[in-house]
Amino acid sequence: MARYTGPACRQCRREGMKLYLKGDRCYTDKCAIARRNYAPGQHGQNKKKLSNYGVQLREKQKVRRIYGILENQFKLYFEKAERMKGVTGENLLTLLERRLDNVVYRMGFGDSRNEARQLVRHGHFTVNGKKVNIPSYQVDVNDLIAVKENSKGTEKFKALAEAAAAKTAPQWLSVNAEMMEARVISLPTREDIDLPIEEHLIVELYSK
Ligand code: SF4
Repeated sequence: MARYTGPACRQCRREGMKLYLKGDRCYTDKCAIARRNYAPGQHGQNKKKLSNYGVQLREKQKVRRIYGILENQFKLYFEKAERMKGVTGENLLTLLERRLDNVVYRMGFGDSRNEARQLVRHGHFTVNGKKVNIPSYQVDVNDLIAVKENSKGTEKFKALAEAAAAKTAPQWLSVNAEMMEARVISLPTREDIDLPIEEHLIVELYSK
């Protein structure tokens, strides 16, 4: 599946906020938002009030960028969320949250979703004992996500596990960093997603 490969910091500047796309760098004064918090491009410093449509569009772009999803795939997530029972906006966010690359990131393996995606793509993870290298794979309740046996002994994964042990996982995941695995104990709910997202704006955008 295709992904955005342009400069990450440019995406944050476009949204006017930190999207934490580059791991450790995001917490330093090298962060582009800390240095020049205005939109990229020639007219980036000309602030103008956004229309309703503009606000809705920006919210959608923000979420797309946080999870690293291209437009077409994002639309498919939205359509799936619409078909599900419950509140469409919340369904959308929980579908994104259940992506394997996001789960690996939430397990604490990788400083950013992008790094976690690379780990998945390179075949370092299994789901219920089977190798899965598809970042968009949707996890389900009781799934066991684990680092592949061959990868566990590597220095890289020892360091990743050490870093994961120091991080706090969401309550829907039971993480054993030492064993390099996590069990999905429940599906994520809206309350589990601690991102500043107003998903109703995305629903309004796609409902036009
Ligand atoms: Fe965004 Fe991180 Fe770049 Fe800051 S350093 S602009 S938070 S990707």
